[in-house]
Amino acid sequence: NPLKSAEFLISAARPAQFPADELPEVAFAGRSNAGKSSALNRLTEQKNLARISKTPGRTQLINFFQLTGGQRLVDLPGYGYAKVPPAVKEKWARLIESYLQKRGNLVGLIHIMDVRHPMKPFDEQMLEFANAIDCPVHILLTKADKLKRGQQAKQRQIVRNAIGESASVQLFSAESGQGTEEARAVVAGWLGL
Ligand code: GDP
Repeated sequence: NPLKSAEFLISAARPAQFPADELPEVAFAGRSNAGKSSALNRLTEQKNLARISKTPGRTQLINFFQLTGGQRLVDLPGYGYAKVPPAVKEKWARLIESYLQKRGNLVGLIHIMDVRHPMKPFDEQMLEFANAIDCPVHILLTKADKLKRGQQAKQRQIVRNAIGESASVQLFSAESGQGTEEARAVVAGWLGL
């Protein structure tokens, strides 16, 4: 597993704090509670990798993880915690947007959605941001273990129809491991691993 060497590098609150080099990065995005941390932990085979992103004070930051070759996995702040005031949500959206628009290192975006609740407004916004900068997008419909196979396929088709040719999409489960190899191959391919 080429992603297993991931180690926490740095948390950034603004672009000046992003690592200043040319190394490639794959970013991970999703609404809060979609299952992004669990997906990151499963892909890297580390139980607690993404826990750092959930510690108080870091949930609104961009967290960078480094692989042995220097390539990075980037955990974008989860969007939509219900109890957060609108001004803070606005700040998150701006930070994510500034990352996507200015980050030459970005070679691909993994967008994570709960298979039962895909394509909410934040998801649409992320896909539009990525499209605007010509960034490849691969969607993980996670928590697939919560649905029967037939329903999984139906949800996948709904998303497929909504995104057209602009992204690829697969079923995933951090719980059962479904789709792990496929997702890892996409990330590794983007990073040249
Ligand atoms: P994040 O906020 O997007 O990082 O979401 P988490 O990874 O913390 O997951 C949110 C909740 O969904 C937690 O209770 C997880 O245990 C659960 N969860 C995450 N992924 C899966 C999955 O693939 N299957 C199931 N059944 N539950 C999951």
